[in-house]
Amino acid sequence: MSLVTFNEILPQARKAGRAVGAFNIANYETAKAVIIAAEAEKQPVILQVYQRLMTDPYISALTTMMRNMAEKASVPVAVHLDHGATFEQVKLAIDCGFTSVMFDGSQLPFKENLEQTRQAAEYAHCHGVTIEGEIGHVPLNGTEAAVNIPLSTPEEAAAFAVATGVDALAVSVGTAHGYYCEEPKIAVDLARQISDKVAIPLVLHGGSGTPHEKVKAVIKNGFAKVNVATEFQHTFQLRLQTELQKLNGKFLPLDKLMLPATDDAVAHLRQLIRMFANP
Ligand SMILES: [Zn+2]
Repeated sequence: MSLVTFNEILPQARKAGRAVGAFNIANYETAKAVIIAAEAEKQPVILQVYQRLMTDPYISALTTMMRNMAEKASVPVAVHLDHGATFEQVKLAIDCGFTSVMFDGSQLPFKENLEQTRQAAEYAHCHGVTIEGEIGHVPLNGTEAAVNIPLSTPEEAAAFAVATGVDALAVSVGTAHGYYCEEPKIAVDLARQISDKVAIPLVLHGGSGTPHEKVKAVIKNGFAKVNVATEFQHTFQLRLQTELQKLNGKFLPLDKLMLPATDDAVAHLRQLIRMFANP
């Protein structure tokens, strides 16, 4: 079991019509919560980190911790860079020991995105690492771009997947990152059309707050990886807030303070993992 790339978990998930949860962790407790939840549900999982953490001077220590947790896990676990912004970042992640990376050139013109992603894919594959690309930008909620989300076209998705050689492809079908201000319009028909033309596992970004019925519908249409960050981290944060209020300024060692928040995150993650595995 243990530490894997996308190749050991995503094609299998796509074939079976289910998805693997990919959860952004930021520290020991959130990483632990993801592993505990995946083991409890007996499902593979992806530990992923925000690209901004690549500038942290101790990123290699965080990676070592994730790899160590993955190696000890009773289920397959991939350690993935989310939204890698540059080739240098992809390289750094691979040097640190990530088993998978994303190169996100979705804000570049199509041809430039294709060429840069192709180069990143070549480098990643030379190092035994899998790679995710993105076309059709998934915007941040609350920004102007989230009002009229540019959707991917099946033709572009198919051409991009073949020309770049990526192992998984994030496409835009109407989701956005973070919490929504109003209910998102998820283009399930488009997801089906893209899935018909693209054989590799598709990735849904912006899973937080997306209606579960829509998430299940796209999973059944080739989306084998679903990214969630905001939702379960918010659960963690709210419990932490409750615990701090109870303490009212009194001291409690941090490891003990974090335990109830970790437990709540595990419960939340288990529900998501179960839904992704049985859409
Ligand atoms: Zn994303």
